[in-house]
Amino acid sequence: MNADARYDPVALTQTLLRMNTVNQDGRGNEEACSRHLAELVSAAGFECRLADFGERRTSLVARIGRRTARPALAFTGHVDTVPLGASPWSRDPFGGEIADGRLYGRGASDMKSGVAAFVTAALELAAMLREGPGVVLIITAGEESGCEGALHVVRQPELLPLLDGIGALVVAEPTGNRPLAAHKGALWLRAAAKGVTAHGSMPERGDNAIYKLAPALLQLRDYDFGLPPHPLMGKPTLNVGLIAGGLNINSVPDAASFTIDIRSVAGQDHAAILNELAALLGPEIALETLIDMASVHTDPRDPWMRRVTELATPGEEPGSVAYFTDAAILRPALGNPPTVILGPGEAHMAHQTDEYCLVERIAQAKEFYRRIIVDWMR
Ligand SMILES: [Zn+2]
Repeated sequence: MNADARYDPVALTQTLLRMNTVNQDGRGNEEACSRHLAELVSAAGFECRLADFGERRTSLVARIGRRTARPALAFTGHVDTVPLGASPWSRDPFGGEIADGRLYGRGASDMKSGVAAFVTAALELAAMLREGPGVVLIITAGEESGCEGALHVVRQPELLPLLDGIGALVVAEPTGNRPLAAHKGALWLRAAAKGVTAHGSMPERGDNAIYKLAPALLQLRDYDFGLPPHPLMGKPTLNVGLIAGGLNINSVPDAASFTIDIRSVAGQDHAAILNELAALLGPEIALETLIDMASVHTDPRDPWMRRVTELATPGEEPGSVAYFTDAAILRPALGNPPTVILGPGEAHMAHQTDEYCLVERIAQAKEFYRRIIVDWMR
């Protein structure tokens, strides 16, 4: 491997794409990917720690720089991907193939390109980073299944010294290289009703759980959080996505449930939302929390956020997205540093058949990360 190839973000994205890291049904395979990245950065002088939360479910935390009063800059990205889906691909999802300026593969946009771009930027600047406050790379497994890798990382006492003293966070999720200052939070709930089963020909002997559930569910159709739209993040949303209940056609159902997917904005308290819904749905409905991810929001007027925006998209205002990221877990654990979401992938390509990333955006992202690092070290 020659010196230039080490710093080539497209080649590194291809290498990562050729490793199958699909995260499905509680299983995953991020170890080879995280170990490969650990070898690359430790050769450049990074201190590395691998953290397994399951078999072959490996996250990586790497740090370089002097411990000074000045805080370090952190980058984060995940190396797991969603499954391929039911539709056939017209390209090899693990081939790393380039055609017409597009790099194809599962994870090309979400988000191996982003990881490769910040890793190569940090590798290229390693000599400078050693002498300054430095950077921390937080590369997680198990993001797609609810940030389980990030949750594991922040709970490991032996990783705390590497995660200490971080002054800003870059999340390399797909944004088409546009800086975003916020993403919504996610509160996923299951609402359940219980009853008593009986033969369908004698419904008076049972207690029908579906009849309890249905009126509660319909109250949510036009649910209003009673908030004006957030200036950056818009309105919170609520969706009922899944419903289940009953045994068969000729029994009185003794259990029924539905799920609620709430996407919250900055300033909303998830515990308060939960209390309000419990009161609305009534005592017959039990609510269980499935996922609780805080929203992430940095004031667009924050000085660092302004500089990042100037470096990447001069003259524009940072935006916001609805999907959640590992920052929901990492940011509070790191002391809520200003956080930008900025990555080369195309958000609309995430989780799609024939997922790709535009090749030129990968090099552009690396250049943005390089500028952000150089600016931080000044
Ligand atoms: Zn992602």
